[in-house]
Amino acid sequence: MLIVWYYFSLPTPLFASETSTVLEDKQQKLLAAKIADDGQWRFPLTQEVPQKFIDCIIQFEDRGYYSHWGISPSAIARASIQNIKAKRTISGGSTITMQVIRMARKGQGRTFIEKIIELVLATRLEFGASKKEILSLYASNAPFGGNVVGIDAASWRYFGREPATLSWAEAATLAVLPNAPSLIYPGKNQERLLKKRNRLLDQLVSAKKIDKETCELSKQEPLPGKPHAIPQIASHLLHRAAQEKHSGQRIISTIDGHLQERVNTIIENHHSILKGNEIHNACALVLDVNSGEVLAYVGNTNNQGKPEYESDVDVITAPRSTGSILKPFLFANMLSDGELLASMLVPDIPTQIAGYAPQNYNQTFDGAVPAKRALARSLNIPAVRMLQSYGIEKFCYKLKKTGMTTLTFSADHYGLSIILGGAEGKLWDITGMYASMARTLNHYTSYNGKYDKNDFHPPYYTAQQKKNPELENESFIDAASIYLTFEAMVEVARPDEDAGWKKYTSASKVAWKTGTSFGYRDGWAIGITPNYVVGVWVGNADGEGRPGLVGIETAAPILFDIFSVLKPGKWFTPPYDEMEKVEICKQSGYRASDICEPNDSVWIQKSGLRTESCKYHRLIHLDANETYRVNSNCEDVTKMKHVSWFVLPPAMEWYYKSKNATYKELPPLRADCETEGLRGMEIIYPKQFSKIYVPVEIDGSMGKTIFQVAHRNANTSIYWHIDGVFVGTTQNIHQMGLTPDEGIHTLTLVDEEG
Ligand SMILES: [Zn+2]
Repeated sequence: MLIVWYYFSLPTPLFASETSTVLEDKQQKLLAAKIADDGQWRFPLTQEVPQKFIDCIIQFEDRGYYSHWGISPSAIARASIQNIKAKRTISGGSTITMQVIRMARKGQGRTFIEKIIELVLATRLEFGASKKEILSLYASNAPFGGNVVGIDAASWRYFGREPATLSWAEAATLAVLPNAPSLIYPGKNQERLLKKRNRLLDQLVSAKKIDKETCELSKQEPLPGKPHAIPQIASHLLHRAAQEKHSGQRIISTIDGHLQERVNTIIENHHSILKGNEIHNACALVLDVNSGEVLAYVGNTNNQGKPEYESDVDVITAPRSTGSILKPFLFANMLSDGELLASMLVPDIPTQIAGYAPQNYNQTFDGAVPAKRALARSLNIPAVRMLQSYGIEKFCYKLKKTGMTTLTFSADHYGLSIILGGAEGKLWDITGMYASMARTLNHYTSYNGKYDKNDFHPPYYTAQQKKNPELENESFIDAASIYLTFEAMVEVARPDEDAGWKKYTSASKVAWKTGTSFGYRDGWAIGITPNYVVGVWVGNADGEGRPGLVGIETAAPILFDIFSVLKPGKWFTPPYDEMEKVEICKQSGYRASDICEPNDSVWIQKSGLRTESCKYHRLIHLDANETYRVNSNCEDVTKMKHVSWFVLPPAMEWYYKSKNATYKELPPLRADCETEGLRGMEIIYPKQFSKIYVPVEIDGSMGKTIFQVAHRNANTSIYWHIDGVFVGTTQNIHQMGLTPDEGIHTLTLVDEEG
């Protein structure tokens, strides 16, 4: 029974005290630490006790440490004699092992019985643990004065450095403290502490651990002054890790400490400028693409002493309005689902969908724009129309599948405005989503044209066990569509959101996108290379908007400063196995039809073969001089010339022709071909050159005059313009209530035939 009791006599774990949460970088350098819940700076058990400290502690406390079994009879005998002579306890004769047991059993009185228990348990500890482990227990749990426990915390608090870098004088200072922790307090104690330290240094010379010169130099070193603050260079990640089940642990993160410090500096440099415009918060996240590991995590700016600016909030995990930052996901999914080619013209015309009228940032219309240009320029109207054709429901589903966790409402709740920032997203999710796409593209090449089904995953801040790839032939976004999306995002100079032409350069090619939320509350910038994805957010934590708070002006400069400190790398390898070279109509960007001319040979994603061919080239019939359109009613068929003509629908044409000088409108119909019966439409009211009156309503406001038009083709749409400005569309019944100002006006009506 005694043996059984002896075997189980030690509690596990030996030390149950709460510990500080400690965050380290991937080289195991301290990034930040949080005080333990009991108010002590007590770091978790250290495995690496510095050799200098070991030498000092053995010299000072227990010279026979490596030869005894936990107790030292000779030391006890010597101590007893000393104590009897002095008639009081001046020495305990305790070994380091016994002191570990004593520290673990804190709160026990110093009785004879307790001493016996300590002796027995010390031998038990020696049986169960190596000498090195016992030294770790000692170094991690010894008191060093005040609320400082353990060598790690002591080294940082008193010397501002990690324990491995301690000098002999510093190690000796710390070695004498556990025995008399109060000596660390300034005042008279300093002299006693200095004497103790220097005596130990002398002993180290006798024990041949240091030479005389080292000893003399060490004695010149001052004692520690005011305690240092524990480093806090990744404090938001520390607090996040503590909340995510890592409280009280030593967390070896994936952070690159050097990069973390540089990103901290970049954020603070920009913060000092931004706060001039009352913008107080910003955050940045740097991810390694292939592993998904977080390399830098700066959760907010530092507004010390100004709690109203909420520096403690980790904005990386805060849901914010996404502005335009999700547009590339729509583009990539439409490519992948065979609904779009990057070069295709998409309409950019006044648009009203169920009472919702999106506007471009600069309030102008291009008529028609290639989809990739619309993406690069972040045009809102093409994005909304593209989403309408793709489907909100499907888009929300894809966003969730890509890694967006904040879409808690139904697709209907968000509506089409989701593409312009109608939903909230976290920088954490969004940066991770872009990284997953880049990873899929990289792996497509390294896995010889296969996809790893686990490649879409959130970022990690602690190292994950490497999983074997589970290869599949398909992905819900194919590699070619991802590649073409990134290519569209690459331009380094672009007029974005009317902030003027901004030129950013980087040592490597970067795909990037900015975003600005409604009311200038959030500025976003995301940058992608094959190695890194960088996400930046700028704004106010309390949501206050500021004029000039646009992504391109506030977040993009931070983004490119961060890329300037990252290693430049190569660009993505084009995934040719997922691509096909096809003839594209140069004018429409659609797959070329038989009558398209000129054409381009272009690599498109394979699924793009499902897109329709050019619908804007039409075969028209001209007279011999090619100045008039004719038809068989007025011209001999043998005299006609059949010509292919690029014709945009009227509303698109109206705006397109003003921005594209090369656009040639259809030649007019020759007068004799325009018989009375063939005339397409007629204005019923008002008649040419007539005077109209706009009624005044009962409440005094201006009413509307009803304009009316008849059209030969009952189903056609008519596009209405007053003085060249588009005012609306009618279908079937061509009536429109208008309120023109006083004066002379021109009404222009265009039907689907142009
Ligand atoms: Zn064409």
